[in-house]
Amino acid sequence: MALWWQESGQELHRSFLTGERSAREIAQAALARVAAVDTSLGAFLTVMAEPMLAQAADQDRRREAGGPLGRLAGVPVAVKDNLATRGVVTTAGSALLANWAPPYSATVVERLLAADALILGKTNLDEFAMGSSTEHSAFRKTVNPHRADLVPGGSSGGSAAAVAAGMAPVALGSETGGSVRQPAAYCGAVGLKPTYGRISRYGLVAFASSLDQVGPLGRTVGDVAELLAVIAGVDPADPSTVDEPVPDYGEHLARGATGLRVAMPAELREGVDPALSARCADALRTLATAGAVVKEVRLPHLAAALATYYVIAPAEASSNLARFDGVRYGVRQPGGDDLVEMYRQTRGRGFGPEVKRRIMIGTYALSAGYVDAFYLQAQRLRRLLEEDFARAFTEADLLLSPTTPSLPFAFGEKSADPLAMYANDALTLPANLVGVPALSVPAGKSGGLPVGVQLMARPWQEGLLFQAGQVLEDHFGAMPPVTPGEREPGHD
Ligand code: GLN
Repeated sequence: MALWWQESGQELHRSFLTGERSAREIAQAALARVAAVDTSLGAFLTVMAEPMLAQAADQDRRREAGGPLGRLAGVPVAVKDNLATRGVVTTAGSALLANWAPPYSATVVERLLAADALILGKTNLDEFAMGSSTEHSAFRKTVNPHRADLVPGGSSGGSAAAVAAGMAPVALGSETGGSVRQPAAYCGAVGLKPTYGRISRYGLVAFASSLDQVGPLGRTVGDVAELLAVIAGVDPADPSTVDEPVPDYGEHLARGATGLRVAMPAELREGVDPALSARCADALRTLATAGAVVKEVRLPHLAAALATYYVIAPAEASSNLARFDGVRYGVRQPGGDDLVEMYRQTRGRGFGPEVKRRIMIGTYALSAGYVDAFYLQAQRLRRLLEEDFARAFTEADLLLSPTTPSLPFAFGEKSADPLAMYANDALTLPANLVGVPALSVPAGKSGGLPVGVQLMARPWQEGLLFQAGQVLEDHFGAMPPVTPGEREPGHD
């Protein structure tokens, strides 16, 4: 029998249903795994041992009594710390929220609980999800489970590291410009950015509301599909959700790639490390061998996407973050009798440098005299990008590209150079700008480090992503969970 932490969420769920394992055993094993590896990885900010063990005991009782059990019963799940968990500190990686225990849970967390997922804890992230390396967390460093001198990616670096190191088979992250897919790629996991409107953001700490989505991570495409099925769907508490039926995603996994039209746009290959381009070409061949039809499409405005995003996202952030003022939210700093001074102290001490940079850029881009040149111009470019993608999707069902331009980078390599950090998002953020779903799937390793390839589809076609993603997983293999510090056999 495989060790529990090497199994997928679906395998664990079955082993619980058949009575091979109790939920208590699984929960205790997950806690033991965290205790064994997380001191060196730093994936978790809060471990929810007690509530999880209580959930497990309840599930064991219900199984005993033959009662109903949810579709994630017995499956440990890690949750990014910008998703509200009732009574459990939710920091969004910021010192400003260091003591915020929300009085409610995010809709996605409620849905996980209703499906009997075992919530293991809250994972580290870049402050307010702004970053691509998790280096901007106010609390701790999270390392890449494959190599301790490299970043896990970000901003959902804690969730990706937790999954890759076998602490939980699945996790939730959030996406504004690639924060699920990029860390998934860097850690050797599968990560999905769903269609805008597919998943409720109620209880997600807002970054840029026209871009934000919650996204699932796992080590297999099947687990990610299952997690999406549980959390997707309309929510009256989030008016940006759409009342679009949630399909049976699991059914797509065995459909193969026959007849799917796949294109690898040249614009998504520019500036990419040749080792990653080669993996992409390999992925395209794999899909073609499985019966996909290779097409050519163009995305003429793609070069503008990076700049467009880095105007729109900070602009929206500057507005969303106004609520962290020490009155409505946030650890209040004393300001004497002076309200403005209190704001200044609270925000000055509470926010880290990257968040301040975003607020300043965003405020500038929205200010009178500049709004036309920056924010409105970015909105026009966003429209042109939407048209590019709509046109491309008349020719192709799926667009394929590397998830990132390069392999995981070292701590400190980009943190002093914001533009270098931002440029890392060039291939992921277009999907957020145009609202389409995108999946990152492991495509083996290069130089001992994970490589991720990305698939994008028309809105609401997550099923097609899983279909093709499964073909790629069958070819490249799902990445087995790693134990940090342990050399893996067969890799350099
Ligand atoms: N790295 C991007 C940024 O810093 C995306 C972050 C995200 O998706 N949350 O804006």
